[in-house]
Amino acid sequence: MTTSGDSVPFLDLGALHAELGPELEAAALRVIRSARFLLGPELTGFEVAWAAAVGADHAVGVGSGLDALTLGLRALGVGPGDEVLVPSHTFIATWLAVVQVGAVPVPVDVETPVGDWAHGALEAAVTPRTKAVVPVHLYGHPVDLDPVLELARRHGLCVLDDAAQAHGARYRDRPVGGLTHATAWSFYPGKNLGAFGDGGAVTTSDPETARRLRSLRNYGSTQKYVHEEIGWNSRLDEMQAALLSVRLEHLGAHNARRARAAQRYDEALSDVGHDLGLPQTAEWATPAWHLYVVTSAHRDQLAAHLASQGVECNVHYPVPPHRQRAFAGTSAASADLPRADELAGQVLSLPMGPHLTDAQQDVVIEAVRGFRP
Ligand SMILES: *Cc1c(COP(=O)(O)O)cnc(C)c1O
Repeated sequence: MTTSGDSVPFLDLGALHAELGPELEAAALRVIRSARFLLGPELTGFEVAWAAAVGADHAVGVGSGLDALTLGLRALGVGPGDEVLVPSHTFIATWLAVVQVGAVPVPVDVETPVGDWAHGALEAAVTPRTKAVVPVHLYGHPVDLDPVLELARRHGLCVLDDAAQAHGARYRDRPVGGLTHATAWSFYPGKNLGAFGDGGAVTTSDPETARRLRSLRNYGSTQKYVHEEIGWNSRLDEMQAALLSVRLEHLGAHNARRARAAQRYDEALSDVGHDLGLPQTAEWATPAWHLYVVTSAHRDQLAAHLASQGVECNVHYPVPPHRQRAFAGTSAASADLPRADELAGQVLSLPMGPHLTDAQQDVVIEAVRGFRP
């Protein structure tokens, strides 16, 4: 029996300060003393570094991941009357962004938990109104982008990938972030590259898209009091940018620790003897291991067992977007998405993060191995 002192948190954000405290505090103090809080040198510095890290020409910092998706779609010209293809199994923000620009999300059922569509499924969903596709690198595993880009070329569609969970992921040995028309990022605190509050960014190598994004995030203006279009107020502030610059220097090392933890889980859980599905990594993929998601037909029992052993797990996500009341009455709500429904009942995210210790992980492993359905 495990006591509360041995309990394993799902993600230990407090450990970040223990590791990077002096660097983080110096950055925060620098911003406070500068008395410059928006659209200043910290943002520019972070944007340059983040664009370089993901192999894009431009990064534009915005207020959140949802805003990155919304402004990204808007900058690509998506608006009222357009249809946007989205995966059936994702965080609801992917779908909400489409609605925020007045377009219609058209869900396409996924084949794998990590957001890949079955061969031909995407093609079958294209109509004359389809304007864009939003692949999601769910759990940090990159989507197989080449077939999506090929389809987009053939039908004249834009591709905006949702990389909110994929900081540092690589597809065919190229970093996610410079492979499509634009890529949306979230810096929500729990992400691999997390801020100390809300934040997001869009990366792109198209200068015109970058210019539109800089205008859209700032009241539709690039020159003070000159407003060229209907914009938003959605800016990544100087404090978040300064703190993110500190975290970015450690992203590679933190992701390496996640990958090592994933490998330890893989090795220790490959023969548990109950119906546990382990995450599958495509041969061309280098995941960011944002989450380590197993599947089980006895998910709720397994989760209860782990909780009783002091292991904190999560479900990403228990109710798919098309079953949410927010979409009740829309065409998406009546879509037939059996795989999304099935995954919602089976997925379970085990503790994962750069500060998960071997001892904590061993508690998780022992608890999973001790489960009897
Ligand atoms: C976190 C997340 C978002 C939204 O990001 P916020 O910064 O919380 O708005 C969008 N898509 C996915 C897949 C996410 O995981």
